[in-house]
Amino acid sequence: MQENFSLKPYNTFGIDAKAKYFAEINSPDQLIEILRLSETQTLPILFLGGGSNILFTKDFDGLVIKLSLKGITIQPLNEDKVLVTAKAGENWHEFVMFCLEKNLGGLENLSLIPGNVGTSPMQNIGAYGTEIKDVFYNCKVLNLETLEIEAFDLEKCRFGYRDSIFKQDGKGKYVILEVTFQLTTKNHQIKTEYGAIKSELENLGIENPTIQDVSKAVINIRQSKLPDPKQTGNAGSFFKNPTIPLAQFEELKLKFPNIPGYPNGDFVKVPAGWLIEQCGWKGKQIGNVASHTLQALVIVNATGNATGQEIFDFSTEIINSVQEKFGIELEREVNVI
Ligand SMILES: Cc1cc2nc3c(=O)[nH]c(=O)nc-3n(C[C@H](O)[C@H](O)[C@H](O)COP(=O)(O)OP(=O)(O)OC[C@H]3O[C@@H](n4cnc5c(N)ncnc54)[C@H](O)[C@@H]3O)c2cc1C
Repeated sequence: MQENFSLKPYNTFGIDAKAKYFAEINSPDQLIEILRLSETQTLPILFLGGGSNILFTKDFDGLVIKLSLKGITIQPLNEDKVLVTAKAGENWHEFVMFCLEKNLGGLENLSLIPGNVGTSPMQNIGAYGTEIKDVFYNCKVLNLETLEIEAFDLEKCRFGYRDSIFKQDGKGKYVILEVTFQLTTKNHQIKTEYGAIKSELENLGIENPTIQDVSKAVINIRQSKLPDPKQTGNAGSFFKNPTIPLAQFEELKLKFPNIPGYPNGDFVKVPAGWLIEQCGWKGKQIGNVASHTLQALVIVNATGNATGQEIFDFSTEIINSVQEKFGIELEREVNVI
């Protein structure tokens, strides 16, 4: 256990917040032991994966536990599927690459998402037409009240768009210890419809793509569009894409004929990046904080010296201007501490 510990290397925004106490754990037993110890001191506790979806607006006056459990196992499920289990502390992208090396299909569209495997169910990570719920089998969690290990299947996780039980009723009640995915060993489903995957494959001269080719295309697209947190602090998309009633969308369409929308029943999902851009935020910098020049949805620590509070205030200004212009309330995707 370390005291007064800088979290700067442990969050991709690069915010220099301090944890009163910090500990790194490698096994469920270590986790239970440290939880029993801290119980006697009634400390607030924060669990940390790769720190790529978190904004520290102040020092954390409690115990930060970095989850570093490691290990990957594979077992057969049926003729063309296997179950692959990865411990919470495995890096997500390295895990995806591991699966692709073994020619296991299902995660290729989720290449290059930062963070750890254990956090992937929290917001049902998604990109390029795939969400983890599409290949999720179950996860093992530690119930923080009973300190018992429980299994959560697909239904119990209640996955939604960037959402799960772990962000709703289960918030703060469980630590995810490992996640199991069902992946294909043959007859892989190749998904190229979303975003620029098709045109990137064309650029690469590939006509019949493999899962490895799809991953390569996704990596190329992401590298050309998103800032690398190692160079410029950020947490990817800062806001969720809002879903509004169809009637409200049709009304907005009269005023803003170019407004993009993806209908889903009586609702329409509107790209938050477009709304933010229309309010003039793309590339705009205030002090140490900016909206990214290529993707307005990404807020960056432009000088490397931003405080979490500055980033939070910048995001509030964006929320206010989108509300004023479109009457739509943006919701932050990033976990604000
Ligand atoms: C450049 C960039 C691009 C991104 N692109 C995408 C994208 O395309 N799609 C997408 O969905 N996300 C994206 N993200 C967001 C982020 O990568 C994901 O949300 C990722 O799953 C966060 O993982 P993490 O381990 O870094 O989480 P952390 O930031 O460490 O934690 C996030 C939250 O989960 C809690 N937590 C962490 N681990 C556990 C656990 N094991 N059990 C319980 N609670 C836990 C933390 O307390 C915190 O509240 C992007 C981020 C960046 C920086």
